[in-house]
Amino acid sequence: MDAIAFKDKLKRYGYKLTTQRRAVLDVLIQRPGEHLSTEEIYSYVKESFPEIGLATVYRTMQLFEEIGIVNRLNFDDGCSRFELYVDNEDHHHHHLICEKCNKVFEVENDLLEEIEKEIGEKYKFYVKNHKVTFYGHCQECNEH
Ligand SMILES: [Zn+2]
Ligand SMILES: [Zn+2]
Ligand SMILES: [Zn+2]
Repeated sequence: MDAIAFKDKLKRYGYKLTTQRRAVLDVLIQRPGEHLSTEEIYSYVKESFPEIGLATVYRTMQLFEEIGIVNRLNFDDGCSRFELYVDNEDHHHHHLICEKCNKVFEVENDLLEEIEKEIGEKYKFYVKNHKVTFYGHCQECNEH
């Protein structure tokens, strides 16, 4: 997933890839799997774009969410976190949250095909996606 695909998406919805939007996008592209909060994105963007304001980053994230460039994630840590939404990724990956160190890990495989099939048969409901978060202790915390 490169910047061109996101640019196309913005264009499709009638938005331009402004320098500021580009700067925010670059931070997300350069930091995959980090699940950044708006404040964290802001602090990275500021490094290359010192004149940008937090409100602009907020609005940009809202826009990116609306048109499906990012997923908004809530890990119960009091802020929204974001990651790039990948179009060709059928179902969203799962997250593992360590309750001791608060690190977030990703499970790449869906592993829920059985359940989805059963839901389809039993409830005649077609599952398009889901958000799954597991809570527990990571390997590192377990060993200490
Ligand atoms: Zn993730
Ligand atoms: Zn699935
Ligand atoms: Zn841990």
